[in-house]
Amino acid sequence: MAERQLTKEQLEFQQYARTWLAENAPPPPPVRLPISPIEVSSVAQRDYLQEWQSACYEAGLIGTDVPTEYGGGGREGCQRIANTEMSRSGTPFLINVVGLSMAVPTILVHGTEEQKRQFIPGALSGEEIWCQGFSEPGAGSDMANQQTFAEPRGDDWIVNGHKVWTSLGHFAKWMILIARTSHEHKYDGLTYFLCPIGGHPGVTVRPLIKMTGESGFNEVLFEDAVIPDSGRLDAIGKGWTVAMTTLTHERGAAEGAGSGGGDAGSALDSLIDLARKSQRGGVPASDDPVTRDAIMQQMIVAEGLRQNGRRARVPALVEHPMRLPLQQKVSGSEFSQENARLGIQIAGARSTLYKLDPAAPDAGHWPLAYMNSYGGTIAAGTNEIQRNILGERVLGLAKSK
Ligand SMILES: Cc1cc2nc3c(=O)[nH]c(=O)nc-3n(C[C@H](O)[C@H](O)[C@H](O)COP(=O)(O)OP(=O)(O)OC[C@H]3O[C@@H](n4cnc5c(N)ncnc54)[C@H](O)[C@@H]3O)c2cc1C
Repeated sequence: MAERQLTKEQLEFQQYARTWLAENAPPPPPVRLPISPIEVSSVAQRDYLQEWQSACYEAGLIGTDVPTEYGGGGREGCQRIANTEMSRSGTPFLINVVGLSMAVPTILVHGTEEQKRQFIPGALSGEEIWCQGFSEPGAGSDMANQQTFAEPRGDDWIVNGHKVWTSLGHFAKWMILIARTSHEHKYDGLTYFLCPIGGHPGVTVRPLIKMTGESGFNEVLFEDAVIPDSGRLDAIGKGWTVAMTTLTHERGAAEGAGSGGGDAGSALDSLIDLARKSQRGGVPASDDPVTRDAIMQQMIVAEGLRQNGRRARVPALVEHPMRLPLQQKVSGSEFSQENARLGIQIAGARSTLYKLDPAAPDAGHWPLAYMNSYGGTIAAGTNEIQRNILGERVLGLAKSK
């Protein structure tokens, strides 16, 4: 954010965040960290990242905008500054990405006073990890086709069904869950729950292995699992509306909301660094005109992403609330993919060396980043679906058949 746009208090906060991060960067992790929170798979990674999130929370860099009665800092307009500083500092990402970017904003809009007090502080500190239970084997792009069913029984709901691609489900205490509560209406038959999962009777979490060999996501099976009615978020049958609040924040999260651990700028820095230490035709790849041109193209996109992030904060430019977040999600995920592809190209034959090979450039980052980048173009709604929404609902084009 341009410094001239900040108030005196915000400038002071920015300075504070910058200094705190410089002085309190955590020690190197005891184990290799994955590229993003949705690939965290070992207990050692989790513990290290939870400790870091807790430190950032105690320092006031997380939940900064959230009202103090719910465990936040009550400083309006400061979370974005903290996010920018965390990204710039190159410190690790925050593990509780679903809690911070999806559960907390949704609970703030739709939750009761008790729910806000019960659920928000643990999500901010990272003590209670959240996961998202939207996708099912037959309900991905067609999200309203939910088959997981929640049946009322006394003051409880009895849940049966099958969720899939549940990132962080293996460490989560809570899930934001959409379930069907009526077969009569497709959209109005859905209800949204804050559901206990870690160790909860009737809930089985099974890790799924990705092509990288990591297991950041899971399938989650519900067999007569009980959710108290106090875990229902908003009215029965209003689950679709509540889910749209979550998705607005999830897709907006592609802009870099609250996760630290680098941004388009630092991804580009890594690429330039790789080009400087790689050879092309007997000279450093950074002196090769074709490579330089490709990096310049990436710099242009990165600048576009940065400017879009700024435009999203100008109310007069946000005539359609989802236009910029959707654009950022599509462009940001494709930027990351192209960055990783270029890294592989620059590293040449050495990019076939994978993460356990000591001779692999940047400890095998580039092939790993390339494989993971495909997840980014699928998660939070595939880029094809985002393009459909942009075309039909933002540009007003004819509906696809
Ligand atoms: C890394 C990763 C993490 C994820 N984490 C979570 C999570 O934590 N929680 C969760 O609930 N889900 C999660 N997901 C699931 C994700 O939301 C779904 O994979 C996504 O919505 C697509 O659904 P699907 O996999 O069922 O594919 P499908 O919907 O079956 O789509 C298959 C293909 O068809 C295309 N397609 C489908 N319909 C159309 C259409 N109308 N027009 C054009 N093309 C179309 C799609 O673009 C895609 O290429 C994650 C996914 C990934 C990759």
